[in-house]
Amino acid sequence: DKEDPTLISGRVICAHGLSNSVLADDGRRFDCAIRQVLKSISIEGRGTVVAGDRVRFRAESENTGMIEFVAPRHGVISRQSRGQQHIIAANVDHLLIVTSAAEPSLKPALVDRFLLTAQQCGVNPVIVINKCDLIDCRKLQPLIGVYASLGYRVLLTSAERGINIEYLRELLRGKQTALSGQSGVGKSSLLNAVQPGLGLAVASVSQDNQKGRHTTTTSTLIPLQGDATGAVFDTPGIRQFQLWDITAEEVAGLMPDLRPHVGHCRYSNCLHLTEDDCAVKDAVADGKIDPRRYDSYCHLLEDDLLLSR
Ligand code: GDP
Ligand code: ZN
Repeated sequence: DKEDPTLISGRVICAHGLSNSVLADDGRRFDCAIRQVLKSISIEGRGTVVAGDRVRFRAESENTGMIEFVAPRHGVISRQSRGQQHIIAANVDHLLIVTSAAEPSLKPALVDRFLLTAQQCGVNPVIVINKCDLIDCRKLQPLIGVYASLGYRVLLTSAERGINIEYLRELLRGKQTALSGQSGVGKSSLLNAVQPGLGLAVASVSQDNQKGRHTTTTSTLIPLQGDATGAVFDTPGIRQFQLWDITAEEVAGLMPDLRPHVGHCRYSNCLHLTEDDCAVKDAVADGKIDPRRYDSYCHLLEDDLLLSR
């Protein structure tokens, strides 16, 4: 059974169907196949694992094994492709939404999108504003204030100057972390600063073809040194991930500032755009909802979700 002491606990670093790279909790690496019918499977897609999965496996040699159990997943990030949902990362403890104070300029609307996705995936978001060496960060206080009042954690960093890197390292300790954010904001630089020697290619993301990246679905978990359980997901699919499977009707309910007002509009199917007697719009007018957040909401619906219908 699951408590069988001859089984080894570990997590999937990289999944390739038949041969999965598994890091045992004691630090050894194994190439594992997976039992076709897992004994206690509680995940969809039986017989497959993804990066981040917690597994119990039987060693068959010094570096090969057979996965017998996959633990129930939490914090699943998936992407949709050809109408199908593909899980690309499992057991994501939190999502770093990385932005930059400048170069490229800060885009709060993009942050709001990633926040929605985190909410939908059931993953804790942390907003990181990098390159804070480039501007006077007091300018960001109003924006940070809004996010803080919604309960979101905001961290100002500079990978260049080493500002708050120690804090970031603490944040990542013992957690499986996914990163999202536009290319060029400094995701690789931050990870390299957190773990010198990691050697992620800096500025590579902006150089290569963005379209080509969307086809990459293989994610890899990069273990953090000197930390038994901490790791970050390296997945182009995560970095670029968008709102694949959110409907226009769901969005307001996923925004903590809009949510309390949903259901109080005249029309039960109100999308809070042009409808009369809308409780959400009233709340904006009364100063209960930040107008910029409402603006983000409108753009998201109009540009992304309604047009694509
Ligand atoms: P990624 O695409 O998000 O992984 O971004 P990179 O880590 O490749 O960084 C993009 C560019 O921003 C590189 O030229 C970095 O040197 C630069 N950069 C990264 N972090 C900082 C920072 O904190 N301050 C400044 N001034 N530049 C940074
Ligand atoms: Zn409404």
